[in-house]
Amino acid sequence: MPIRELPSHLVNQIAAGEVVERPASDVKELLENSLDAGASRVEVEIEAGGTRLIRVRDDGVGIPVDELPLALGRHATSKIDSLDDLTRIATLGFRGEALPSIASVSAFRIVSRQADAEAGCEISTADGQLGDSLPAAHPPGTTVEVRDLFARTPARRRFLRAERTEFQHVQATVERLALSRFATGFRLLHNRRVVLDLQPAMDRAQQERRIAEIAGSEFVSTALHIERDEAGMRLSGWICRPAAARAQPDLQHLFLNGRAIRDRVVTSAVRMAYRDVLYGGRFPAFILSLEMDPVRVDVNAHPAKLEVRFRDTGAVHDFIRRAIEAALSQTRPGGAADDVTTERTVHAGHPSPSAALFTTTPDVLRDAAARYADFVATRPAAESESRVNESVGFPLGTALAQLQGIYILAQTARGLVLVDMHAAHERVMYERLKAEAVAEKLASQPLLVPQLVGLTVREAELLEEYRPLLIRLGFEIDRTGPAAATVRALPATLPGVDVAGLLRDWLADWAESGASRRIEERMDAALSTAACHSAVRANRHLTVPEMNALLRAMESTDRADQCSHGRPTWIEVSIEDLDRLFLRGR
Ligand code: ADP
Ligand code: MG
Repeated sequence: MPIRELPSHLVNQIAAGEVVERPASDVKELLENSLDAGASRVEVEIEAGGTRLIRVRDDGVGIPVDELPLALGRHATSKIDSLDDLTRIATLGFRGEALPSIASVSAFRIVSRQADAEAGCEISTADGQLGDSLPAAHPPGTTVEVRDLFARTPARRRFLRAERTEFQHVQATVERLALSRFATGFRLLHNRRVVLDLQPAMDRAQQERRIAEIAGSEFVSTALHIERDEAGMRLSGWICRPAAARAQPDLQHLFLNGRAIRDRVVTSAVRMAYRDVLYGGRFPAFILSLEMDPVRVDVNAHPAKLEVRFRDTGAVHDFIRRAIEAALSQTRPGGAADDVTTERTVHAGHPSPSAALFTTTPDVLRDAAARYADFVATRPAAESESRVNESVGFPLGTALAQLQGIYILAQTARGLVLVDMHAAHERVMYERLKAEAVAEKLASQPLLVPQLVGLTVREAELLEEYRPLLIRLGFEIDRTGPAAATVRALPATLPGVDVAGLLRDWLADWAESGASRRIEERMDAALSTAACHSAVRANRHLTVPEMNALLRAMESTDRADQCSHGRPTWIEVSIEDLDRLFLRGR
């Protein structure tokens, strides 16, 4: 065949292949136009999953009568004018492709009117041919109707799924846009039935109601709200508490300057922020909005504009990771992220026994316990009058007893708290170790009698290889035989640790993950293993003062709501819950 220029209709159909994959992608493009037009309300009507009809109506600025034919022209847009504009895009659209593409694969009609225009105006396509522009009645705003999508491109049509599936995609698209623009009201109808009716949501309570409708009330009630401004970037939104993480990455919304995007940099920053509070194999849920000067990001990197390129990837990664880490570090009993804030303020002025006192060594435990007893005894008499009174001050209350050698029962102002003592102690130890490891090296303490540890030859070799890491961790261990090592010093924080067990676990980890990674990347995992080995084991009897010492340590430990594997460390059963169980009217 000779080379020739393709007719514009065919060019549009080719472009449609990229832009409009299925009804949901049409809905996305049309709604984005409505949002760019400043609509305060939009309505989407769908029939037969979008294959029979897609109608999007908005109350935006409308299109001037003389420009309407242009809107259907290829590469025609009102949103950019120069290359310079392309580097600072603040609208969702800018490519000028959507309307001609959609019109080329459907029976299409657009009606629009500007608020101050005398009348509206419409254009339809028939058999792919653009009709004349005709006067039409319409309230201020724009309506676009797309009928019989892909009727004339059967190859595309064959790829469509069942009506229900296509509609689900449409609904997900509308919901995503609704989460990106709280100030706009959204209505969605399928086969004349109202599926979504979201009022404009101005304040946080209304926004959370919208989120609950879309993502479930479970997400909202367990989410942490975050808001952080720094170096010209702003991150705001909701992230799930670690214990509410999901089995699938199915609730992860990220908006960049109001545009839904998928981005590896951001995903990785979120994953890192959650790394040691997440239960194995779970995924965080989040609805996050990132804002920055459009100059700092290139949105012209993907035909459907789902991917972007940040100018300064490192700064974005860092900012997001730190913002989320800061929010998650507040997940501790009575932490700022907790709704029990009132209880916390009651005793805000009191010193609480330092978490640093609490270790597994029985002596140190007893010491912490004694200090706790002192602390309670020296509090003003009026406050320690009754135990209930006393417990009011502490989010985790006062310990009553140990259950089955596993749980601590405590009484709070609101009811009963159950603490998984090993999990809780593990987190306390882990956070302490991490805080200390920030310094060059954990402080170590020589053993009076060096301890010999039997290993396999392979383990002993690995041990030599990892000596620098062990020193950083506060251990002084030398290989003293083909299959033996001698421990001469332990970290001061872990005086009572079962060193042989810990060493074997570490060596097993390192053998499996290979020697290529840097020490820094191993630290957290190594410290988490150490914390596990140093935490109180099941069936270890704790006295009441020891239990209280653990509760106080938890309250002053970041992320104490979950152990280092992401499992919850404590739960509260309120008096109301108990009354309900016993059918007790109050
Ligand atoms: P783009 O959005 O990339 O500019 P489109 O093909 O989606 O390209 O739309 C072309 C032009 O038509 C837009 O630039 C805008 O001026 C106008 N337009 C489309 N939809 C609307 C609408 N709902 N309200 C107002 N103007 C619209
Ligand atoms: Mg557009």
